[in-house]
Amino acid sequence: MELPFAESYKIKMVESIKKSTRQQRTKWIEEANYNLFNLSSDKVFVDLLTDSGTGAMSDKQWSEMMLGDESYAGASSFYKLKAAIKDITGFDYFLPTHQGRAAENVLFSSKINAGDIIPGNSHFDTTKGHIEFRKAHAVDCTIDEAFNTTLDHPFKGNVDISKLEDVLKSHPKEKIPMIILTVTCNSSGGQPVSLQNMREVKQLADKYGIPIFYDSARFAENAYFIKIREKGYEDKSIREIVREMFSFADGMTMSSKKDAIVNMGGFIGFRHEEDYDKASVFNILFEGYLSYGGMSGRDMNALAQGLYEGTEFDYLETRIGQVAYLGKKLKDYGIPVQYPFGGHAIFVDAKKFLPNVPKEEFIAQTLGVELFIEGGVRGVEIGTLLADRDPETGENRYPCLELLRLAIPRRVYTNNHMDYIAASLINVYDRRDEITSGYKILKEAPILRHFTVKLEKV
Ligand SMILES: *Cc1c(COP(=O)(O)O)cnc(C)c1O
Repeated sequence: MELPFAESYKIKMVESIKKSTRQQRTKWIEEANYNLFNLSSDKVFVDLLTDSGTGAMSDKQWSEMMLGDESYAGASSFYKLKAAIKDITGFDYFLPTHQGRAAENVLFSSKINAGDIIPGNSHFDTTKGHIEFRKAHAVDCTIDEAFNTTLDHPFKGNVDISKLEDVLKSHPKEKIPMIILTVTCNSSGGQPVSLQNMREVKQLADKYGIPIFYDSARFAENAYFIKIREKGYEDKSIREIVREMFSFADGMTMSSKKDAIVNMGGFIGFRHEEDYDKASVFNILFEGYLSYGGMSGRDMNALAQGLYEGTEFDYLETRIGQVAYLGKKLKDYGIPVQYPFGGHAIFVDAKKFLPNVPKEEFIAQTLGVELFIEGGVRGVEIGTLLADRDPETGENRYPCLELLRLAIPRRVYTNNHMDYIAASLINVYDRRDEITSGYKILKEAPILRHFTVKLEKV
């Protein structure tokens, strides 16, 4: 008999979670103004709001916490992290920040001005927020295949090279401070970018003299997909692939809360000393001194260890295998999910799931509320609420895709939880014809509104 797949770790510590009744959940979500971010976590049974900072640290990471050096300047924890970043990514210079968007804030402060154009592949919401906050523009050059949720394509995060060239051709070099390549693409479904595409982006960027920065939150998951899907990489190790990926970049921003499996943290990696020097000023201003930048010594130690664990093949196989396990259950039942499955989450195509809800009534949010009421499972809307309003016209932006993202925390839930999630969503699917209306906005913030928006039933 062939040995079945099994997790590459065992459990040493557990945390209780509580079930609730449908009646309780209906009341709680109304009190939360139908915003899943407003629910206190004790009301949630399986929490798939995000895979960001929600992972379980290992015994080795917890041991590293005890070895943290909390010196203000020049802590050994800083040097340990610096060595790990150099070893894994190849970047000589780095700045610690308290999380990924802080890395964006510091880097963009040193590089982006009003009126600038920042091409990329499905910029993440905080990235776009930081670009638009500076009155610059993010231009999405993702391949069209990414927007067809059922089309099988191994690298739906890829940049469309001709779309990118059009952007680079039609603006002066001074207006394009960088290209941002997101690996994997969170907003388009946790979809990876191939090494071939990274190489082509680099060639084009060199032709026009534009630097490339990787938005690297899930770089290791991207590397795993390259290993299993891209010709010529099947025998390379994850770390070899990661080094090759970053060899095409001038720097990176990192949300360590994702693939580095820590609860808080981030950093910026730089190839060039001038870039590091310019950004350093803003790091000291916004984050903290250069050798801690918003992180405790113990957290830098855990992060250094997490970078190694997050780039192990066995771990990535377990993680991405679990996401695919859930995806397959849903797909086999006929639920419209994005395919191929992403690295960190399953994305449910809400437009296809709830065809009777008008787009003005926030289709994916409506599905998220129904899933919570059904089973106490909390997902997150990746749709019209997240897309914010157009900064110039003030109109809602309706993205091609209305998705409910079920993000799987790292090393936290078992496959029994995956079965539970699937059953909850299947129950909603069975009564989808009865769901014909959604929500309208009572109150919203001018930017990144999805975090705090208040809704009421239409
Ligand atoms: C999470 C994330 C960010 C922002 O990082 P935070 O740590 O949440 O501030 C930026 N880009 C991508 C692709 C992300 O997934």
